[in-house]
Amino acid sequence: MKVETIAIQAGRTIDKDIGAVMPPIHLTTTYQRGNDTGLVYSRLDNPNRKALEECLTALEEGSEAIAFASGMAAVAGVFQALQHGDHILLADDTYFGVRELTMNIMSRWGLQHTLVDMTDLAAIRASIRDNTRLIWIETPSNPMLKITDISAVAGIAKDRGILLGVDGTWATPILQKPLLLGADYVVHSSTKCLGGHSDLTGGVVVAREGAELTPSIREIQAIGGAVPSAFDCWLLLRGIRTLPWRMRGHCANALEIAEYLETHPLVHRVHYPGLASHPANRLASEQMSGFGGMLSIQVKGGTDVAARVAAGTRIFTQATSLGGVESLIEHRAPIEGATSKTPTDLLRISVGLEHVSDLLADLEQALNDQDKTRVANPDNQ
Ligand code: PLP
Repeated sequence: MKVETIAIQAGRTIDKDIGAVMPPIHLTTTYQRGNDTGLVYSRLDNPNRKALEECLTALEEGSEAIAFASGMAAVAGVFQALQHGDHILLADDTYFGVRELTMNIMSRWGLQHTLVDMTDLAAIRASIRDNTRLIWIETPSNPMLKITDISAVAGIAKDRGILLGVDGTWATPILQKPLLLGADYVVHSSTKCLGGHSDLTGGVVVAREGAELTPSIREIQAIGGAVPSAFDCWLLLRGIRTLPWRMRGHCANALEIAEYLETHPLVHRVHYPGLASHPANRLASEQMSGFGGMLSIQVKGGTDVAARVAAGTRIFTQATSLGGVESLIEHRAPIEGATSKTPTDLLRISVGLEHVSDLLADLEQALNDQDKTRVANPDNQ
C-alpha cells in the first residue's frame, strides 16, 4: 500500500454497534475486570493509543510504535532503557532539549555521552568507546538543517554492535524512513508535523524488528507513565490522516521561499537541504523523498536585526515550535539559553500551508524594512 493510503487506513476501524466511520475517544481511566479486550487501565493501554501506534508502525515500516506524551518523553524513554555507565554518541547540533536531557539529567543517572559532528564519519569512529551502546542522530537537524548519512552511520554502528537511534521529526515518515536505512529506532516529536495543527504535544518511538531495548522502552512507557491522553492520541491520528498531502505543501512552499531568501540582500545564509547550495543537497536527495517545511536563515547585522525581522512579520507568527499548518518564525539562540551553539543571527522558519505568495510578501516586507535601516546606517552593522 502507498503511504497516502496507509496514513488514512492504518489503525482505522468501523464501530461494530453503530457504524461510526470515525473512532470514539475512549475517555475512561479504567476497564471492567474480565472484559475480553485485555484492557485494564488507561496508562497501560487504551484503544486510541493502540490505533495511533498501529498507524505509526505501518508508516515507519517498523515492528512496533510506542507513544509518549511529548517528543522529549520519547527520547528520554530510549535513553532510560540504557544501563548505568553506558555511553551515547550524540550529534553536536542535536535539538537543544536532547542535549540538556543528556547533560543535566541522564548524566546524574550514570549515562555518559560525547558530542560528535555526525557528518564526519571518521570522527564518529574515533569517538566510539568500549561502553558505547547508542548513536543518536537527528536529520535534518534542528535548527541548522545538517543532514547525516543514515546508512553510513548505521553501517558503523552495526560493525561495532551499537544501536542507532534517529530523530526524524523534521522529515516525518513521509520523507524519510530511517528503519529501512538500517536504524534501530526512529523517534518523532509528534507535536510537530505528525499532529500538524499545533494543538497537542506527543512523541513516539518506532522500533526495528528485534531491536533489543524495545521491551524496556515499552515498560518505561507503561510504568514511567509519560503517556499521551486518549484525546491527544485521537487528535494525532486525525492529523496523520492528511500528513502525506500536508508534507507536499510544506515542501513546495519551503523550496520556493528558500530560493527567494537566497536572493535577498539582508540574508547571508539559507539553510535548506533542497537548495543546490546546501553542502548535503545530494545526500538529502538520496535519503529523503522531499526536503520538508523547515529552513533557517542568517541575516546581516546580527542578533538585533534578527530579532527585529522576527518581530516584523505579519503572517508568520513569532513563536516556538514547527510543523503546523500555520507559518512560524523564531529568533532561535535566545530561546536556547546559555549553552546554545546556534548562531545569534539565525531565524528558524516553519513554512506552513498558507498561499506561498502571501508568505513571500510577508517575509519580503519584514526583511526590506531592516535592510533599508542597514543600508541607511552602514556604520551600525
Ligand atoms: N526533537 C526535535 C528534532 C525537535 O525539534 C523537538 C522539539 O522542537 C523535540 C525533539 C522535542 O519535542 P517535544 O517538544 O514534543 O517534546
